Amino acid sequence: MVARVIPVEKFDLVIFGATGDLARRKILPGLYRRWKEGQIPKGAKIVGAARSDIPRDDFRSMVRAALEEFLNHKELVDDKIASFLEMLDYVTIDAKGDDGWDMLGSMMRPEMVRAFYFSVAPSLFGGIAKRLHQRGIADRNSRIVVEKPFGKDLMTARALNATLAEYFHEDQIYRIDHYLGKETVQNLMAVRFANILFEPLWNSQFIDHVQITVAETVGVDGRGEYYDSSGAMRDMVQNHLMQLLCLIAMEPPHSFEPDAMRDEKLKVIRALDPIKPGEYVRGQYRGRGEEDYLVDSGNPDSRTESFIAMKMHISNWRWKGTPFYLRTGKRMKSRVSEIAVTFKEPPHSIFGESNQWRENVLVIRLQPDEGMDLRVMIKEPGPGGMRLKDVALDMSFAEALGNDLDIPDAYERLIMDVIRGNQTLFMRGDEVEAAWAWVDPVIEGWELREDQPEPYEPGSTGPEGALMLMHKDGRRWREIR
Ligand code: NAP
Repeated sequence: MVARVIPVEKFDLVIFGATGDLARRKILPGLYRRWKEGQIPKGAKIVGAARSDIPRDDFRSMVRAALEEFLNHKELVDDKIASFLEMLDYVTIDAKGDDGWDMLGSMMRPEMVRAFYFSVAPSLFGGIAKRLHQRGIADRNSRIVVEKPFGKDLMTARALNATLAEYFHEDQIYRIDHYLGKETVQNLMAVRFANILFEPLWNSQFIDHVQITVAETVGVDGRGEYYDSSGAMRDMVQNHLMQLLCLIAMEPPHSFEPDAMRDEKLKVIRALDPIKPGEYVRGQYRGRGEEDYLVDSGNPDSRTESFIAMKMHISNWRWKGTPFYLRTGKRMKSRVSEIAVTFKEPPHSIFGESNQWRENVLVIRLQPDEGMDLRVMIKEPGPGGMRLKDVALDMSFAEALGNDLDIPDAYERLIMDVIRGNQTLFMRGDEVEAAWAWVDPVIEGWELREDQPEPYEPGSTGPEGALMLMHKDGRRWREIR
């Protein structure tokens, strides 16, 4: 089965920071894939912008090299690459200066959807927004796409929201969280709200607990200075994990419209209880050489966490009594992102003591191998009497829908949504602020107490304390294989 492709309108897309890592690794390869699949129409234009003073042809060569580096060779089709590169233009602009903007303005065409992707350091967001507005390069129908991090606490996030709001309306601002663009995350919405099967059980009466794991094998990956001033709580929990938690926990919205969805997510964040000491564990990988966080981050005195596990409570009718356990870390055993919803025991077993009951678990895998599985109890086949066994009803999307299914990367989907003007999978300003309002006091608490993160072995599943966080509740983390 081949994914259905509905072309978007013609557009002018400007990528600020087009020579940077994110643009080369994700944005430009993603755009090429959408072009190759026929979703981007002929006549669309992509303009790269950065300070580097390079001619358009050098920019095109750089993009070709990026496609060759970051896409697999099956995707590299000569004539598609050539026609994609034809679409590209380049303008030299220092976001803090005055040169180049008129040139950029002259490249924009009337009657086209205009989008501006801010793939630059957050300190530049305000200046770019201001110049686009003041020089009339952006109009009321234009969109801006803002990368993470969106602030480093409530105060800075508020200030950034206020700055952007001076020049753009909320319906023009696309705050990207690429986790929301993942196929599985949207499938989670479909599973919950397009089936009658799960929703009646989706509450604390039937769900024992929920686990959300985002484990990475990489370290700070050359971003030591940024990461050390951020840590796992700001870099991962405030945005990605919090968004996943919202999608699991939210009430059914009345429609899949952006504000209907975002209103419900916001209610979840506002219903989160403050977290107390003893309900979280911070860790830091401590190995040899670069596998030691203190070396990797370049800060020998660092107290920043490269791992965090925590237990969260949502104070509302649906979830009172069902804990949500979150964990995320770097240099862990393997790269895994998943949500596991563990159901409670049936009230009575008719199969006797010898049949050990295992929990029903719905696992939503974001990485690797996007898909879902549901662990259920069945009778073990054969004549050996009524022996029970738990098995996975496995649904890998690639398998279920045909191996040739082309699942777009999160960035591809989200950029196409920007062109379509659909904000459903983007964060609204008040959501981001509410998430910071919950996160800030937790961080202030450990900074005040001068908490030291607990060391863990690189390549492990995190510090001992994280295991204890579950064990003391009589539960265990799912294995990271
Ligand atoms: P990067 O590799 O450092 O690239 C920064 C880009 O900004 C370069 O193209 C640079 O080109 C341009 N730039 C720097 N100063 C500029 C200025 N004054 N005016 C105009 N352009 C300027 O950074 P990145 O990793 O691509 O990250 C970009 C943004 O995405 C950041 O906000 C980051 O937090 C976010 N992000 C990145 C990733 C990732 O995987 N890389 C993931 C999530 C979010 P010149 O030097 O030529 O100007």
